[in-house]
Amino acid sequence: MKKRSLVIIVILISVRMTFLEGKNKVTEVKLKDRPSVTLAPGYYQGNRSPLLPGPLVKLPIGQIEIRGWLLSQLQLTRSGFVGHLPEISKFLKEDSGWLTLRGKGWEEMPYWLKGYGDLAYLLKDKEMIATARKWIEAILGSQQADGYFGPVDNREANDLWPNMEALLCLRSYYDFSHDRRVLDFMSRYFRFELNLPEEKFLPGSWQKLRGGENLDSVYWLYNHTGESWLLDLARKIYRRTADWASPILTPERDRQWEESSFYHGVNIAMGLKYPALYYQQTGEKQLLEAVERNYQQLMTSYGQQPGGMFAADENIRPGYNDPRQGAETCTMVEMMFTWETLLKITGETIAADRVEDIAFNSLPASMTPDLRGLHYLTAANLISCDRSGEHDFQNSGTLLSYDPWSYRCCQHNVAFGWPYLAEHLWLATSDQGVAAVIYAPSSVELKVGPRGQVVRLIEETSYPFSGKIIFTVASAEEVDFPLYLRLPGWAQTAFISINNEQPKEVKAPGKFAVLERRWKYGDQICLDLEESVQFKFWPGIGQAISLRRGPLWFSLEIKEIWEKYDGTESWPAWEVLPGSDWNYALVIDQDNLAENIRLIEKREVGYQPFSLENAPLILEARAMRCPGWVAEGKMVGRVPPSPPGVAGPEETVRLIPMGCARLRITCFPWARSGK
Ligand SMILES: [Zn+2]
Repeated sequence: MKKRSLVIIVILISVRMTFLEGKNKVTEVKLKDRPSVTLAPGYYQGNRSPLLPGPLVKLPIGQIEIRGWLLSQLQLTRSGFVGHLPEISKFLKEDSGWLTLRGKGWEEMPYWLKGYGDLAYLLKDKEMIATARKWIEAILGSQQADGYFGPVDNREANDLWPNMEALLCLRSYYDFSHDRRVLDFMSRYFRFELNLPEEKFLPGSWQKLRGGENLDSVYWLYNHTGESWLLDLARKIYRRTADWASPILTPERDRQWEESSFYHGVNIAMGLKYPALYYQQTGEKQLLEAVERNYQQLMTSYGQQPGGMFAADENIRPGYNDPRQGAETCTMVEMMFTWETLLKITGETIAADRVEDIAFNSLPASMTPDLRGLHYLTAANLISCDRSGEHDFQNSGTLLSYDPWSYRCCQHNVAFGWPYLAEHLWLATSDQGVAAVIYAPSSVELKVGPRGQVVRLIEETSYPFSGKIIFTVASAEEVDFPLYLRLPGWAQTAFISINNEQPKEVKAPGKFAVLERRWKYGDQICLDLEESVQFKFWPGIGQAISLRRGPLWFSLEIKEIWEKYDGTESWPAWEVLPGSDWNYALVIDQDNLAENIRLIEKREVGYQPFSLENAPLILEARAMRCPGWVAEGKMVGRVPPSPPGVAGPEETVRLIPMGCARLRITCFPWARSGK
């Protein structure tokens, strides 16, 4: 090549590079409440018309790869009781009605399989996939001529509830395998439901309260097959399901809370979402409004505590809203699923905030750090996980000790907590982009942009223990698509930068930051969420105070004494008893709230950060003892109104993330500094 032409080519290349750099120099950060709903063809199965299109669409299992601390939760779920439940649970033996059809087989097997199967697919674990398959094949093989499936006992009891959970297992299996039999099977089963006389369909009990789970699977099948009669069935299910669109709390139900199934914690966590599910078919905005109204009503009365949960130590009980009343483990994972569902229907970031609140604060403490034992109730204030039953809960007996052998429903249902969360970190947007909605170390591969090019995004972070998240783009060719980043409600300020651009300050908590440009291999986006310590006062419990830093709430560090009391050598049951004082009031200067708390330690996030020993963040606060705040039996006393009576010298106490503490005080009384 002649020297002159070479010079011209070099000049042309550099002009083009300058042009591209110039064009991309400062990327505009747009702010949106939710991803735009467009009629552009989606690459993933969203809602089919006439169902309303959703702004966010779930990706098939396998598109998201989990890393870091979240991968260790999945691995620990596998090595813990969930992965070994057939060895432990009497409901997963060879005489299960799900295998024999004649024996007993209710909700337990599908509760477990819906989490275990997804865990197997996420970890790509061949042995687990084969175990899941054994139960899936039994379900598929159990279908009768009229479309009914599952244990005969349930049919005789006219109880479709356990099948609603089994359908979730089949959906994930189809997602993973594309086994066409699943669609035909579900279609025949839904014909059976359509043909049932109205009065025999969801006549009462749990199935009537939980019919929305069935509705969700009918929409799922409709989106896959487009059979229009499924929408008639959807109307029938909604009509026959208990009314969750009216206010949940009423004076009438208050008087009969013991009998009211509307006051059962797990039912509430599930039922909250049903009006929003049906909104997809009717488009009636008041159905969405009903969800938020009911949630606010519930949390104002019973959710006066951090960690995203409400006091329901079986049922919500008028007069029992102190943070010492626990939440059942089933309620936690169902509540997470409710917000994961709402996230896709509304596209609003607050749903992701609520998933994280539960997942990063309440859920980890419901199990031992090795995930080899669980308990029934977890409370924001909890000073003893013993087996005595000397507690003021609705149920009697052992509810707090950690035991892989007990707590029948939770023991099986908790399996889907971490796997479903993992599947909702990234969602496709209806405008052919992608949204990072729940933050955790991961990567995602999906089709984006007008031409459906495949892009891979890698997310590096120790979130929720740090607010800094780095995304790296890996794609074979340059590709235009919008990247949505959730700005959590707690993040007053965020900084966003791309490559070497000047970081842009964004003050828009609760919005999505949208970056739309031509992305190329190696582009890096840095999202830095400011995590200042924030204070929350709880007017419903005497103005008690809680502290948060980013997505994490903080609890008083209490020395834990672990004592084995039952079980086997491999699968022991544990009591966790307090080895240090707990009855502290925080001493705060109300005029300078931020100066009351110091971050004293920041450690690397280890394999299992959710334990007392490995807590990645430690705060320090000033406190004084409250001699009048004492245990009642083994149970922590109700939080005294602030300011309480305090005594003794001012001390310094350590606070650790709520999910790291098996014993904890998270709602504190407080006294004024210097007074
Ligand atoms: Zn349960």
